[in-house]
Amino acid sequence: MKNYDVVVIGGGPGGYVAAIRCAQLGLSTACVESWLDDEKQVVLGGTCLNVGCIPSKALLDSSHHFSFIKNEAKEHGINVSSPAMDIHRMIERKKNIVSTLTQGIAGLFKKNKVDWLKGHGKLISNSQIEVQAVGDDSSEAYQVGAGHIIIATGSVPMSIPPAQVDNEMIVDSTGALAFTDVPKRLGVIGAGVIGLELGSVWNRLGAEVVIFEALDEFLAPVDRQLAKEAEKLLRNQGLDIRLGAKVTGTGCNNREVSVTYEDAEGKQQIVFDKLIVAVGRKPNTAGLGANDAGVELDQRGFIVVDENCQTGLENVYAIGDVVRGPMLAHKASEEGVAVAERIAGQKSHMNYDAIPWVIYTWPEIAWVGKTEQELKAAGIDFKRGSFPIAASGRARAMGEVNGVIKMLSDASSDRILGIHILAPNASELISEAVLAVEFDGSSEDIARTIHAHPTLAEALHEAALAVDKRAIHF
Ligand code: FAD
Ligand code: AMP
Repeated sequence: MKNYDVVVIGGGPGGYVAAIRCAQLGLSTACVESWLDDEKQVVLGGTCLNVGCIPSKALLDSSHHFSFIKNEAKEHGINVSSPAMDIHRMIERKKNIVSTLTQGIAGLFKKNKVDWLKGHGKLISNSQIEVQAVGDDSSEAYQVGAGHIIIATGSVPMSIPPAQVDNEMIVDSTGALAFTDVPKRLGVIGAGVIGLELGSVWNRLGAEVVIFEALDEFLAPVDRQLAKEAEKLLRNQGLDIRLGAKVTGTGCNNREVSVTYEDAEGKQQIVFDKLIVAVGRKPNTAGLGANDAGVELDQRGFIVVDENCQTGLENVYAIGDVVRGPMLAHKASEEGVAVAERIAGQKSHMNYDAIPWVIYTWPEIAWVGKTEQELKAAGIDFKRGSFPIAASGRARAMGEVNGVIKMLSDASSDRILGIHILAPNASELISEAVLAVEFDGSSEDIARTIHAHPTLAEALHEAALAVDKRAIHF
Protein backbone atom coordinates (compact mmCIF):
# COMPACT_ATOMS: atom_id res chain seq x y z
CA MET A 1 0.00 0.00 0.00
CA LYS A 2 1.35 3.38 -0.99
CA ASN A 3 1.46 5.98 1.81
CA TYR A 4 1.18 9.74 1.46
CA ASP A 5 1.51 12.58 3.94
CA VAL A 6 -1.80 13.90 2.59
CA VAL A 7 -4.59 12.44 0.47
CA VAL A 8 -7.20 14.88 -0.82
CA ILE A 9 -10.58 13.48 -1.91
CA GLY A 10 -12.01 15.67 -4.67
CA GLY A 11 -10.20 17.74 -7.29
CA GLY A 12 -12.41 20.85 -7.49
CA PRO A 13 -11.18 24.35 -6.56
CA GLY A 14 -11.06 23.28 -2.90
CA GLY A 15 -9.28 19.96 -3.42
CA TYR A 16 -6.86 20.73 -6.25
CA VAL A 17 -5.67 23.94 -4.60
CA ALA A 18 -5.23 22.15 -1.25
CA ALA A 19 -3.24 19.39 -2.99
CA ILE A 20 -0.94 21.83 -4.81
CA ARG A 21 -0.32 23.85 -1.63
CA CYS A 22 0.46 20.65 0.34
CA ALA A 23 2.97 19.63 -2.33
CA GLN A 24 4.54 23.11 -2.35
CA LEU A 25 5.07 22.71 1.39
CA GLY A 26 7.00 19.46 0.86
CA LEU A 27 4.26 17.01 1.78
CA SER A 28 3.86 13.90 -0.38
CA THR A 29 0.35 14.36 -1.76
CA ALA A 30 -2.27 12.51 -3.78
CA CYS A 31 -5.65 13.75 -4.99
CA VAL A 32 -8.49 11.31 -5.74
CA GLU A 33 -10.88 12.53 -8.43
CA SER A 34 -13.64 10.72 -10.33
CA TRP A 35 -15.34 13.39 -12.51
CA LEU A 36 -16.11 12.04 -15.99
CA ASP A 37 -16.38 14.50 -18.86
CA ASP A 38 -18.61 14.04 -21.94
CA GLU A 39 -15.95 11.79 -23.50
CA LYS A 40 -15.92 9.61 -20.33
CA GLN A 41 -12.43 10.78 -19.43
CA VAL A 42 -11.64 11.53 -15.78
CA VAL A 43 -10.90 15.24 -15.39
CA LEU A 44 -9.88 17.62 -12.63
CA GLY A 45 -11.50 20.94 -11.76
CA GLY A 46 -14.77 19.79 -10.18
CA THR A 47 -18.03 21.67 -10.50
CA CYS A 48 -16.30 25.04 -10.90
CA LEU A 49 -14.35 24.25 -14.04
CA ASN A 50 -16.60 21.63 -15.62
CA VAL A 51 -20.17 22.78 -15.02
CA GLY A 52 -20.02 25.87 -12.81
CA CYS A 53 -18.09 29.13 -12.61
CA ILE A 54 -16.11 28.85 -15.84
CA PRO A 55 -18.65 27.50 -18.37
CA SER A 56 -21.36 29.81 -17.00
CA LYS A 57 -19.08 32.82 -17.39
CA ALA A 58 -18.12 31.68 -20.90
CA LEU A 59 -21.80 31.69 -21.88
CA LEU A 60 -22.48 34.94 -20.02
CA ASP A 61 -19.66 36.58 -21.98
CA SER A 62 -20.82 35.18 -25.34
CA SER A 63 -24.41 36.23 -24.71
CA HIS A 64 -23.29 39.64 -23.44
CA HIS A 65 -21.38 40.26 -26.68
CA PHE A 66 -24.42 39.22 -28.69
CA SER A 67 -26.71 41.48 -26.71
CA PHE A 68 -24.22 44.36 -27.12
CA ILE A 69 -24.03 43.89 -30.88
CA LYS A 70 -27.80 43.66 -31.17
CA ASN A 71 -28.81 46.44 -28.82
CA GLU A 72 -25.92 48.83 -28.22
CA ALA A 73 -23.38 48.65 -31.06
CA LYS A 74 -25.40 51.13 -33.10
CA GLU A 75 -25.01 53.76 -30.39
CA HIS A 76 -21.22 53.46 -30.85
CA GLY A 77 -21.60 53.99 -34.58
CA ILE A 78 -21.14 50.30 -35.36
CA ASN A 79 -23.70 49.07 -37.85
CA VAL A 80 -24.19 45.31 -37.95
CA SER A 81 -26.97 43.90 -40.04
CA SER A 82 -28.98 40.97 -38.61
CA PRO A 83 -26.55 39.47 -36.09
CA ALA A 84 -27.29 35.79 -35.50
CA MET A 85 -26.12 33.34 -32.86
CA ASP A 86 -24.43 30.08 -33.75
CA ILE A 87 -25.26 28.17 -30.56
CA HIS A 88 -23.21 25.15 -31.60
CA ARG A 89 -20.11 27.36 -31.95
CA MET A 90 -20.81 29.06 -28.62
CA ILE A 91 -21.06 25.70 -26.83
CA GLU A 92 -17.89 24.41 -28.56
CA ARG A 93 -16.05 27.53 -27.43
CA LYS A 94 -17.21 26.88 -23.85
CA LYS A 95 -16.08 23.23 -24.07
CA ASN A 96 -12.63 24.25 -25.33
CA ILE A 97 -12.19 26.74 -22.52
CA VAL A 98 -13.15 24.09 -19.98
CA SER A 99 -10.82 21.44 -21.38
CA THR A 100 -7.88 23.89 -21.64
CA LEU A 101 -8.32 24.76 -17.98
CA THR A 102 -8.89 21.22 -16.68
CA GLN A 103 -5.82 20.00 -18.60
CA GLY A 104 -3.95 22.94 -17.11
CA ILE A 105 -4.65 21.61 -13.64
CA ALA A 106 -3.40 18.18 -14.64
CA GLY A 107 -0.22 19.99 -15.76
CA LEU A 108 0.03 21.79 -12.41
CA PHE A 109 -0.28 18.44 -10.61
CA LYS A 110 2.65 17.09 -12.65
CA LYS A 111 4.72 20.20 -12.04
CA ASN A 112 4.10 20.03 -8.30
CA LYS A 113 4.39 16.22 -8.10
CA VAL A 114 0.85 15.65 -6.88
CA ASP A 115 -0.26 12.08 -7.68
CA TRP A 116 -3.67 12.08 -9.32
CA LEU A 117 -5.53 8.90 -8.35
CA LYS A 118 -8.28 8.60 -10.95
CA GLY A 119 -11.27 7.06 -9.21
CA HIS A 120 -13.82 7.31 -6.45
CA GLY A 121 -12.39 7.74 -2.97
CA LYS A 122 -13.94 6.13 0.09
CA LEU A 123 -12.87 6.68 3.68
CA ILE A 124 -11.88 3.47 5.44
CA SER A 125 -10.43 5.13 8.52
CA ASN A 126 -8.63 8.35 9.42
CA SER A 127 -5.52 7.01 7.70
CA GLN A 128 -6.79 4.81 4.89
CA ILE A 129 -8.68 5.48 1.68
CA GLU A 130 -10.05 3.04 -0.85
CA VAL A 131 -9.91 4.10 -4.50
CA GLN A 132 -12.24 2.53 -7.06
CA ALA A 133 -11.56 3.38 -10.71
CA VAL A 134 -14.56 4.91 -12.49
CA GLY A 135 -15.76 4.10 -15.98
CA ASP A 136 -13.96 0.76 -15.74
CA ASP A 137 -15.77 -1.74 -13.51
CA SER A 138 -13.20 -4.47 -14.10
CA SER A 139 -10.38 -2.81 -12.21
CA GLU A 140 -10.02 -3.72 -8.57
CA ALA A 141 -10.29 -1.17 -5.82
CA TYR A 142 -7.02 -0.47 -4.00
CA GLN A 143 -6.11 1.28 -0.78
CA VAL A 144 -3.72 4.11 0.00
CA GLY A 145 -2.46 5.30 3.37
CA ALA A 146 -2.57 8.94 4.49
CA GLY A 147 -1.06 10.87 7.39
CA HIS A 148 -3.80 13.45 6.84
CA ILE A 149 -6.97 13.42 4.78
CA ILE A 150 -8.69 16.45 3.26
CA ILE A 151 -12.29 15.87 2.11
CA ALA A 152 -13.25 18.26 -0.72
CA THR A 153 -16.13 16.39 -2.35
CA GLY A 154 -18.15 19.52 -3.12
CA SER A 155 -21.83 19.74 -3.88
CA VAL A 156 -24.47 18.65 -6.39
CA PRO A 157 -27.65 20.35 -7.64
CA MET A 158 -30.67 20.07 -5.36
CA SER A 159 -33.90 18.76 -6.81
CA ILE A 160 -37.51 19.27 -5.73
CA PRO A 161 -40.27 16.65 -6.01
CA PRO A 162 -42.56 18.79 -8.23
CA ALA A 163 -39.87 19.15 -10.91
CA GLN A 164 -37.85 15.97 -11.44
CA VAL A 165 -34.88 16.56 -13.75
CA ASP A 166 -35.11 14.33 -16.85
CA ASN A 167 -32.24 16.08 -18.70
CA GLU A 168 -34.56 16.51 -21.69
CA MET A 169 -37.37 18.90 -20.90
CA ILE A 170 -36.45 19.60 -17.28
CA VAL A 171 -32.75 20.25 -16.69
CA ASP A 172 -30.50 21.35 -13.85
CA SER A 173 -27.73 23.95 -14.18
CA THR A 174 -25.50 21.43 -15.99
CA GLY A 175 -28.13 20.80 -18.67
CA ALA A 176 -28.78 24.53 -19.03
CA LEU A 177 -25.10 25.06 -19.94
CA ALA A 178 -25.45 22.69 -22.89
CA PHE A 179 -28.70 23.55 -24.71
CA THR A 180 -28.23 22.95 -28.43
CA ASP A 181 -30.60 25.74 -29.41
CA VAL A 182 -32.35 28.67 -27.81
CA PRO A 183 -35.63 27.56 -26.21
CA LYS A 184 -38.41 29.90 -27.30
CA ARG A 185 -40.10 29.73 -23.90
CA LEU A 186 -37.86 29.00 -20.93
CA GLY A 187 -38.94 28.54 -17.31
CA VAL A 188 -36.48 28.81 -14.43
CA ILE A 189 -37.29 27.69 -10.87
CA GLY A 190 -35.31 29.76 -8.37
CA ALA A 191 -34.18 33.38 -8.62
CA GLY A 192 -30.91 32.72 -6.82
CA VAL A 193 -27.45 33.34 -8.28
CA ILE A 194 -27.52 30.38 -10.67
CA GLY A 195 -31.13 30.95 -11.83
CA LEU A 196 -30.45 34.61 -12.60
CA GLU A 197 -27.17 33.94 -14.41
CA LEU A 198 -28.55 31.15 -16.59
CA GLY A 199 -31.82 33.00 -17.13
CA SER A 200 -29.78 36.02 -18.29
CA VAL A 201 -27.74 33.94 -20.77
CA TRP A 202 -30.77 32.51 -22.58
CA ASN A 203 -32.81 35.71 -22.31
CA ARG A 204 -30.01 37.64 -24.06
CA LEU A 205 -30.00 35.02 -26.80
CA GLY A 206 -33.71 35.46 -27.44
CA ALA A 207 -35.62 33.13 -25.09
CA GLU A 208 -38.74 34.40 -23.31
CA VAL A 209 -37.69 33.70 -19.74
CA VAL A 210 -39.99 33.37 -16.72
CA ILE A 211 -38.28 32.95 -13.33
CA PHE A 212 -40.31 31.56 -10.41
CA GLU A 213 -39.18 32.46 -6.91
CA ALA A 214 -41.01 31.11 -3.87
CA LEU A 215 -39.84 33.97 -1.65
CA ASP A 216 -41.59 37.36 -1.76
CA GLU A 217 -38.29 39.20 -1.62
CA PHE A 218 -35.91 39.44 -4.59
CA LEU A 219 -32.33 38.37 -3.77
CA ALA A 220 -32.94 38.31 -0.03
CA PRO A 221 -29.23 38.20 0.99
CA VAL A 222 -28.37 41.29 -1.08
CA ASP A 223 -28.50 44.86 0.27
CA ARG A 224 -32.09 46.03 -0.30
CA GLN A 225 -31.16 49.17 -2.22
CA LEU A 226 -29.09 47.20 -4.73
CA ALA A 227 -31.54 44.28 -4.93
CA LYS A 228 -34.40 46.66 -5.78
CA GLU A 229 -32.40 48.41 -8.47
CA ALA A 230 -31.12 45.12 -9.91
CA GLU A 231 -34.65 43.73 -10.00
CA LYS A 232 -35.84 46.73 -12.01
CA LEU A 233 -32.92 46.48 -14.45
CA LEU A 234 -33.29 42.73 -14.98
CA ARG A 235 -37.03 43.09 -15.56
CA ASN A 236 -36.26 45.81 -18.13
CA GLN A 237 -33.93 43.36 -19.88
CA GLY A 238 -36.91 41.06 -20.33
CA LEU A 239 -36.65 38.64 -17.42
CA ASP A 240 -40.19 37.94 -16.20
CA ILE A 241 -39.44 37.49 -12.49
CA ARG A 242 -42.40 36.18 -10.48
CA LEU A 243 -41.90 36.57 -6.75
CA GLY A 244 -43.95 34.69 -4.14
CA ALA A 245 -44.48 32.06 -6.85
CA LYS A 246 -43.94 28.52 -5.59
CA VAL A 247 -43.73 25.78 -8.19
CA THR A 248 -45.91 22.87 -7.07
CA GLY A 249 -46.00 20.62 -10.11
CA THR A 250 -44.84 19.95 -13.66
CA GLY A 251 -46.06 17.81 -16.49
CA CYS A 252 -44.11 16.92 -19.64
CA ASN A 253 -44.66 15.54 -23.05
CA ASN A 254 -41.73 15.38 -25.46
CA ARG A 255 -42.48 18.83 -26.87
CA GLU A 256 -43.27 20.99 -23.89
CA VAL A 257 -43.35 21.19 -20.13
CA SER A 258 -46.18 22.72 -18.14
CA VAL A 259 -45.45 24.30 -14.79
CA THR A 260 -48.03 24.70 -12.05
CA TYR A 261 -47.29 27.31 -9.44
CA GLU A 262 -49.06 29.10 -6.61
CA ASP A 263 -48.84 32.79 -5.93
CA ALA A 264 -51.01 35.44 -4.28
CA GLU A 265 -53.60 35.00 -7.01
CA GLY A 266 -53.89 31.24 -6.50
CA LYS A 267 -52.97 28.28 -8.65
CA GLN A 268 -51.64 29.03 -12.15
CA GLN A 269 -50.10 27.19 -15.05
CA ILE A 270 -47.65 28.14 -17.84
CA VAL A 271 -46.19 26.05 -20.65
CA PHE A 272 -42.50 26.14 -21.66
CA ASP A 273 -40.16 24.48 -24.14
CA LYS A 274 -37.57 23.86 -21.41
CA LEU A 275 -37.46 24.24 -17.64
CA ILE A 276 -34.33 24.85 -15.55
CA VAL A 277 -34.36 23.78 -11.90
CA ALA A 278 -32.04 26.13 -10.01
CA VAL A 279 -33.21 25.72 -6.41
CA GLY A 280 -29.80 25.45 -4.77
CA ARG A 281 -27.09 22.86 -4.17
CA LYS A 282 -26.50 20.23 -1.49
CA PRO A 283 -23.30 18.78 -0.04
CA ASN A 284 -21.96 15.72 -1.83
CA THR A 285 -20.96 12.79 0.36
CA ALA A 286 -22.33 9.98 -1.84
CA GLY A 287 -20.30 6.79 -1.46
CA LEU A 288 -17.73 8.58 0.71
CA GLY A 289 -18.21 6.28 3.70
CA ALA A 290 -18.16 9.28 6.02
CA ASN A 291 -20.51 7.90 8.67
CA ASP A 292 -18.87 4.48 8.83
CA ALA A 293 -15.44 6.07 9.20
CA GLY A 294 -16.71 8.29 12.03
CA VAL A 295 -17.02 11.62 10.22
CA GLU A 296 -20.14 13.42 11.43
CA LEU A 297 -22.69 14.97 9.05
CA ASP A 298 -25.24 17.57 10.16
CA GLN A 299 -28.98 17.39 9.45
CA ARG A 300 -28.57 18.96 6.02
CA GLY A 301 -25.76 16.57 5.06
CA PHE A 302 -22.80 18.96 5.51
CA ILE A 303 -19.65 17.53 7.10
CA VAL A 304 -19.33 19.01 10.58
CA VAL A 305 -16.06 20.94 11.03
CA ASP A 306 -14.65 23.49 13.47
CA GLU A 307 -13.34 26.94 12.53
CA ASN A 308 -10.13 25.30 11.26
CA CYS A 309 -11.99 22.86 8.95
CA GLN A 310 -11.06 19.97 11.28
CA THR A 311 -13.67 17.19 11.49
CA GLY A 312 -14.26 15.27 14.72
CA LEU A 313 -11.93 12.54 13.40
CA GLU A 314 -8.26 13.19 14.11
CA ASN A 315 -6.20 14.24 11.05
CA VAL A 316 -9.28 14.45 8.82
CA TYR A 317 -10.25 17.86 7.46
CA ALA A 318 -13.08 18.97 5.16
CA ILE A 319 -13.29 22.10 3.00
CA GLY A 320 -15.41 23.85 0.36
CA ASP A 321 -19.04 23.23 -0.56
CA VAL A 322 -19.24 20.07 1.55
CA VAL A 323 -18.91 22.13 4.77
CA ARG A 324 -20.74 25.14 6.24
CA GLY A 325 -20.35 28.60 4.74
CA PRO A 326 -20.94 30.10 1.32
CA MET A 327 -20.81 27.74 -1.66
CA LEU A 328 -18.18 29.72 -3.55
CA ALA A 329 -15.08 28.52 -5.38
CA HIS A 330 -12.72 31.06 -3.78
CA LYS A 331 -13.97 30.14 -0.29
CA ALA A 332 -13.22 26.48 -1.07
CA SER A 333 -9.72 27.32 -2.38
CA GLU A 334 -8.78 29.53 0.57
CA GLU A 335 -9.92 26.85 3.02
CA GLY A 336 -7.74 24.43 1.05
CA VAL A 337 -4.68 26.67 1.43
CA ALA A 338 -5.36 27.26 5.13
CA VAL A 339 -5.71 23.51 5.86
CA ALA A 340 -2.58 22.62 3.85
CA GLU A 341 -0.55 25.19 5.80
CA ARG A 342 -1.95 23.95 9.12
CA ILE A 343 -1.02 20.36 8.24
CA ALA A 344 2.49 21.58 7.42
CA GLY A 345 2.70 23.10 10.90
CA GLN A 346 2.13 26.71 9.93
CA LYS A 347 -0.36 29.10 11.50
CA SER A 348 -3.01 29.94 8.97
CA HIS A 349 -6.16 31.99 9.24
CA MET A 350 -9.24 32.19 7.05
CA ASN A 351 -11.14 35.48 7.36
CA TYR A 352 -14.77 34.53 6.79
CA ASP A 353 -15.78 38.20 7.16
CA ALA A 354 -13.84 39.14 4.03
CA ILE A 355 -15.33 36.78 1.44
CA PRO A 356 -16.56 38.53 -1.71
CA TRP A 357 -19.87 37.52 -3.28
CA VAL A 358 -20.58 38.09 -6.96
CA ILE A 359 -23.65 37.63 -9.15
CA TYR A 360 -22.70 37.85 -12.84
CA THR A 361 -25.84 39.50 -14.15
CA TRP A 362 -25.45 42.76 -16.06
CA PRO A 363 -24.71 45.00 -14.34
CA GLU A 364 -22.88 42.64 -12.02
CA ILE A 365 -23.67 42.60 -8.31
CA ALA A 366 -20.83 42.18 -5.81
CA TRP A 367 -20.47 42.76 -2.11
CA VAL A 368 -18.36 42.14 0.95
CA GLY A 369 -19.34 42.48 4.59
CA LYS A 370 -22.70 43.42 6.03
CA THR A 371 -25.77 44.82 4.30
CA GLU A 372 -27.64 47.84 5.60
CA GLN A 373 -30.50 45.60 6.75
CA GLU A 374 -28.10 43.33 8.67
CA LEU A 375 -26.48 46.30 10.44
CA LYS A 376 -29.89 47.70 11.41
CA ALA A 377 -31.04 44.30 12.70
CA ALA A 378 -27.86 44.05 14.80
CA GLY A 379 -28.39 47.59 16.18
CA ILE A 380 -25.01 48.80 14.87
CA ASP A 381 -24.63 52.55 14.25
CA PHE A 382 -23.24 53.16 10.81
CA LYS A 383 -22.52 55.87 8.23
CA ARG A 384 -23.47 55.47 4.59
CA GLY A 385 -22.05 56.83 1.36
CA SER A 386 -23.23 56.01 -2.12
CA PHE A 387 -22.38 57.05 -5.65
CA PRO A 388 -24.41 56.40 -8.81
CA ILE A 389 -22.66 54.77 -11.76
CA ALA A 390 -24.38 57.32 -14.02
CA ALA A 391 -22.07 59.98 -12.54
CA SER A 392 -18.88 58.11 -13.49
CA GLY A 393 -17.08 59.51 -16.54
CA ARG A 394 -15.64 56.11 -17.44
CA ALA A 395 -19.06 54.44 -17.18
CA ARG A 396 -20.51 57.12 -19.49
CA ALA A 397 -17.68 56.52 -21.97
CA MET A 398 -18.53 52.82 -21.89
CA GLY A 399 -22.20 53.57 -22.48
CA GLU A 400 -23.15 52.27 -19.03
CA VAL A 401 -25.40 54.35 -16.81
CA ASN A 402 -26.94 51.83 -14.43
CA GLY A 403 -25.87 50.91 -10.95
CA VAL A 404 -24.61 52.27 -7.67
CA ILE A 405 -21.75 51.76 -5.23
CA LYS A 406 -22.51 51.96 -1.55
CA MET A 407 -20.15 51.99 1.41
CA LEU A 408 -21.15 51.40 5.03
CA SER A 409 -18.78 52.21 7.87
CA ASP A 410 -18.93 52.26 11.66
CA ALA A 411 -20.44 55.52 12.92
CA SER A 412 -17.67 56.15 15.43
CA SER A 413 -14.53 54.32 14.21
CA ASP A 414 -15.27 54.63 10.45
CA ARG A 415 -14.14 50.99 10.02
CA ILE A 416 -15.67 49.64 6.80
CA LEU A 417 -18.55 47.28 7.58
CA GLY A 418 -19.83 46.59 4.08
CA ILE A 419 -19.31 47.57 0.44
CA HIS A 420 -22.03 46.88 -2.11
CA ILE A 421 -21.53 47.29 -5.84
CA LEU A 422 -24.07 47.14 -8.67
CA ALA A 423 -21.96 48.09 -11.67
CA PRO A 424 -20.32 46.90 -14.86
CA ASN A 425 -17.34 44.71 -13.85
CA ALA A 426 -18.39 44.71 -10.18
CA SER A 427 -16.63 41.33 -9.99
CA GLU A 428 -13.31 43.12 -10.50
CA LEU A 429 -14.15 46.28 -8.52
CA ILE A 430 -14.98 44.26 -5.40
CA SER A 431 -11.31 43.24 -4.93
CA GLU A 432 -10.33 46.70 -3.70
CA ALA A 433 -13.23 46.57 -1.26
CA VAL A 434 -12.18 43.12 0.01
CA LEU A 435 -8.60 44.31 0.48
CA ALA A 436 -9.83 47.29 2.51
CA VAL A 437 -11.95 44.98 4.71
CA GLU A 438 -9.06 42.51 5.10
CA PHE A 439 -6.80 45.36 6.26
CA ASP A 440 -9.51 46.63 8.66
CA GLY A 441 -9.61 49.78 6.57
CA SER A 442 -11.82 52.84 7.02
CA SER A 443 -13.79 54.80 4.44
CA GLU A 444 -11.17 57.50 5.01
CA ASP A 445 -8.44 55.07 3.83
CA ILE A 446 -10.20 54.59 0.49
CA ALA A 447 -11.09 58.29 0.30
CA ARG A 448 -7.37 59.17 0.65
CA THR A 449 -6.24 56.56 -1.91
CA ILE A 450 -5.50 57.94 -5.38
CA HIS A 451 -7.59 56.22 -8.03
CA ALA A 452 -6.68 56.32 -11.72
CA HIS A 453 -8.87 58.44 -13.97
CA PRO A 454 -11.02 57.59 -15.81
CA THR A 455 -11.93 54.27 -14.19
CA LEU A 456 -14.99 52.64 -12.71
CA ALA A 457 -12.98 52.33 -9.49
CA GLU A 458 -13.34 56.09 -9.09
CA ALA A 459 -16.98 55.41 -8.23
CA LEU A 460 -15.80 53.41 -5.22
CA HIS A 461 -13.55 56.32 -4.28
CA GLU A 462 -16.50 58.70 -4.55
CA ALA A 463 -18.69 56.38 -2.43
CA ALA A 464 -15.97 56.53 0.24
CA LEU A 465 -15.93 60.33 0.02
CA ALA A 466 -19.73 60.32 0.23
CA VAL A 467 -19.58 58.61 3.64
CA ASP A 468 -18.53 62.00 5.04
CA LYS A 469 -20.63 63.92 2.50
CA ARG A 470 -17.71 65.14 0.43
CA ALA A 471 -18.22 63.34 -2.89
CA ILE A 472 -16.99 65.61 -5.67
CA HIS A 473 -18.97 64.45 -8.68
CA PHE A 474 -22.41 63.95 -7.15
P1 FAD B 1 -16.56 20.86 -6.37
O1 FAD B 1 -16.13 21.88 -7.32
O2 FAD B 1 -17.97 20.39 -6.42
O3 FAD B 1 -15.57 19.64 -6.55
C1 FAD B 1 -15.73 18.45 -5.87
C2 FAD B 1 -15.03 17.36 -6.65
O4 FAD B 1 -14.96 16.20 -5.86
C3 FAD B 1 -15.75 16.97 -7.94
O5 FAD B 1 -14.85 17.05 -9.00
C4 FAD B 1 -16.18 15.52 -7.69
O6 FAD B 1 -16.11 14.72 -8.86
C5 FAD B 1 -15.16 15.07 -6.68
N1 FAD B 1 -15.62 14.00 -5.81
C6 FAD B 1 -16.72 13.98 -5.03
N2 FAD B 1 -16.77 12.85 -4.32
C7 FAD B 1 -15.67 12.14 -4.65
C8 FAD B 1 -15.15 10.91 -4.23
N3 FAD B 1 -15.73 10.19 -3.28
N4 FAD B 1 -14.01 10.46 -4.81
C9 FAD B 1 -13.37 11.20 -5.77
N5 FAD B 1 -13.80 12.39 -6.17
C10 FAD B 1 -14.93 12.86 -5.62
N6 FAD B 1 -18.72 29.87 -7.43
C11 FAD B 1 -18.04 31.02 -7.51
O7 FAD B 1 -17.26 31.33 -6.60
N7 FAD B 1 -18.17 31.86 -8.60
C12 FAD B 1 -19.01 31.57 -9.62
O8 FAD B 1 -19.11 32.34 -10.56
C13 FAD B 1 -19.76 30.36 -9.55
N8 FAD B 1 -20.59 30.03 -10.56
C14 FAD B 1 -21.25 28.84 -10.52
C15 FAD B 1 -22.10 28.52 -11.57
C16 FAD B 1 -22.79 27.33 -11.57
C17 FAD B 1 -23.70 26.98 -12.72
C18 FAD B 1 -22.59 26.40 -10.49
C19 FAD B 1 -23.29 25.08 -10.48
C20 FAD B 1 -21.75 26.73 -9.43
C21 FAD B 1 -21.08 27.95 -9.43
N9 FAD B 1 -20.23 28.32 -8.37
C22 FAD B 1 -19.58 29.51 -8.44
C23 FAD B 1 -20.03 27.46 -7.20
C24 FAD B 1 -18.69 26.71 -7.29
O9 FAD B 1 -18.69 25.94 -8.46
C25 FAD B 1 -18.49 25.85 -6.07
O10 FAD B 1 -18.59 26.66 -4.90
C26 FAD B 1 -17.12 25.20 -6.09
O11 FAD B 1 -16.96 24.39 -7.22
C27 FAD B 1 -16.91 24.35 -4.83
O12 FAD B 1 -15.66 23.76 -4.88
P2 FAD B 1 -15.37 22.36 -4.15
O13 FAD B 1 -13.94 22.06 -4.45
O14 FAD B 1 -15.80 22.44 -2.74
O15 FAD B 1 -16.34 21.31 -4.85
P1 AMP C 1 -29.99 29.65 -4.34
O1 AMP C 1 -30.12 28.84 -3.08
O2 AMP C 1 -29.37 31.00 -4.15
O3 AMP C 1 -29.40 28.88 -5.47
O4 AMP C 1 -31.50 29.98 -4.80
C1 AMP C 1 -32.47 29.00 -5.04
C2 AMP C 1 -33.83 29.68 -4.94
O5 AMP C 1 -34.84 28.75 -5.36
C3 AMP C 1 -34.22 30.12 -3.53
O6 AMP C 1 -34.37 31.52 -3.52
C4 AMP C 1 -35.52 29.38 -3.25
O7 AMP C 1 -36.45 30.20 -2.57
C5 AMP C 1 -36.03 29.05 -4.65
N1 AMP C 1 -36.95 27.90 -4.68
C6 AMP C 1 -36.80 26.70 -4.07
N2 AMP C 1 -37.88 25.88 -4.32
C7 AMP C 1 -38.74 26.59 -5.11
C8 AMP C 1 -40.03 26.32 -5.71
N3 AMP C 1 -40.65 25.14 -5.56
N4 AMP C 1 -40.62 27.29 -6.46
C9 AMP C 1 -39.99 28.49 -6.64
N5 AMP C 1 -38.80 28.80 -6.09
C10 AMP C 1 -38.16 27.87 -5.34
